[in-house]
Amino acid sequence: MNFNLVTNIEQCFMLIRDTVPLTFIYYSHIPVALVSLIMGIFIFIKSKRSLQGKILLGILLTFSLWLLADLVTWTNYDSRNIMLFWSFFPILNTLFFILSLYLVYVFINKKDMPLIAKVILFFLLSPMIFTMPTKLNLSSFEITECIAVENQYVNYVVFVEILVFFCIIILLIDGFKNSDRVFRRQIIFFGMGITLFLLSFFVTGLLADFLIKRGITETYAIEPYGLFGMTIFLGFLGYLIVKFKAFNIKLLGAQALVAAIVILIASQYAFIQNPTNKILNGVTLVLALAAGWVLVRSVKAEVRQRENLEIANNEISERKNQLQKISDALAVSNDRLKIANKQLETLDKVKNDFINFASHQLRTPLTGIKGYASLLKEGSYGRLESEQAEAVKKIGVAAERMSGLVEDFLNTSKIDSGGMRCDMRKNRIEDICQEVAVTLAPKAAAKNLYLEYQKPAFELPELFVDGLKIKETISNLVDNAVKYTPKGGVVLCLERKKIPDKSQNFGGQKKEIDFQDVVRVTVSDTGIGIPAGELEHLFVKFSRGSDTKRLNASGTGLGLYIGKVIVEAHGGKVWAESEGEGKGSRFIVELPVKQKESVLKKQETVL
Ligand code: ADP
Repeated sequence: MNFNLVTNIEQCFMLIRDTVPLTFIYYSHIPVALVSLIMGIFIFIKSKRSLQGKILLGILLTFSLWLLADLVTWTNYDSRNIMLFWSFFPILNTLFFILSLYLVYVFINKKDMPLIAKVILFFLLSPMIFTMPTKLNLSSFEITECIAVENQYVNYVVFVEILVFFCIIILLIDGFKNSDRVFRRQIIFFGMGITLFLLSFFVTGLLADFLIKRGITETYAIEPYGLFGMTIFLGFLGYLIVKFKAFNIKLLGAQALVAAIVILIASQYAFIQNPTNKILNGVTLVLALAAGWVLVRSVKAEVRQRENLEIANNEISERKNQLQKISDALAVSNDRLKIANKQLETLDKVKNDFINFASHQLRTPLTGIKGYASLLKEGSYGRLESEQAEAVKKIGVAAERMSGLVEDFLNTSKIDSGGMRCDMRKNRIEDICQEVAVTLAPKAAAKNLYLEYQKPAFELPELFVDGLKIKETISNLVDNAVKYTPKGGVVLCLERKKIPDKSQNFGGQKKEIDFQDVVRVTVSDTGIGIPAGELEHLFVKFSRGSDTKRLNASGTGLGLYIGKVIVEAHGGKVWAESEGEGKGSRFIVELPVKQKESVLKKQETVL
């Protein structure tokens, strides 16, 4: 093998080169390489070592190596160094293009390249690797100009570069066609950056070669200018990252700007010779760093605030959506409720109609049964044997109970349908209570209970009430007292009282308390009593105490409900008191002596 890396010339004198004021261009390679490396490493780390980040770092590393090789070859006088670094150019040049193709592929497709494509690319690159140290690459050293002489094989490098370049263009156009609006803009910036860089790099290199071979120029003086394409590419990359969060990096424009300014100022050190300028540059750098730090901090705070606002806004609109959904659901269930209510109303009416009808139909035969039972008992159809008399008595009691039930049902259905009317007249309440006590005395006596009626000390004023209904109410209370008292007895007490008028409340303002003149009827017994928890439920429709089962007392749970409706319709009130189970109960009815106008008006119509 014919190797090229050893020459017998150690030092060449830079007669021609020194005449060209190029050195500063080559030294500017240092800041450019540094910036490229910093940016490559930054993107690599920040993109969480993504594939794109890796490839980009690869490109920028290759680029930095290229700059290093270029710097050495054009600033060195030792032929061995020049030959060594020069021999790397074909590999580095091709690697650039191939890695750029790889990056474009991954950038557009968001996935790795297929293995076969990678193998083909490596295949394209391999001649440069194997021929690198041979004379196929660099044939000799030109001592007069202090440059390496490239072999014709360099044309292969040009061929690969053109091929890869066209592949990149095809990939970019294809990606552009198949993307949405936002990604298209990214492709434009990315594609422009990378193609401009490759083009400027390639064209200037080629042009330099061409011009030298034609003898138009004697140096590669224009080649380094192609490198500025990289600066453009890095600028575009920065823009992509800031604007589109490319490579999944969150970088603020202010951060990028500050970094660019700081790097720019720092890079001046590559050129400054004068110590005063060095100090001034240092001061500028420190000032730029401080101002940049303040700027970035305030921008960050603002961005954070905006992000928080955005989050809050999103949350609000989410809540709004949820509320909308809930109100929609509510509207739907409201509609359903309305329909269900309508159906319930219809059902209720049907039920009331049925109860009304059934009760009326039952009433007539029941009156017959009760009447004939009483005639039989009285001996109107001849004397009865004692067993017969007992049976007739039972028929009478059962018929009486049944007519009570029918009356309860009828009254309830009347209340429900708003058809119960009160016949308000002047009534003596003493007489009503007296009648109740007399009527129920036999029932109490049958159970060996006393039934005491305590009259008021003074005559009471006449009350404007529906006498029959009030009698029914008091009668039900005394009847219950007898029913739910196994031993002892019942006291029916009537009295006149003055009670504080609670309806005279003027919005919580203090005012002299008015007293209401009422008649109070109290039915106390020594019976089973009522547990505290049951007291408030007693007056509800169909409510029956838990003890009724134990006592086997028959009933519907309607009596107290009807009584309450009647008493309240008279502007009065009714309630129960008990010390507890087994401790007897007290049922109290209070009726106003003077009816309020509103109550009177109401009674003219219906309950
Ligand atoms: P009914 O007596 O037909 O069951 P009521 O409406 O008259 O219906 O009474 C409702 C419930 O109140 C009764 O089932 C009973 O549990 C309770 N109750 C009524 N009066 C008394 C009383 N004097 N002592 C104990 N419990 C009573």
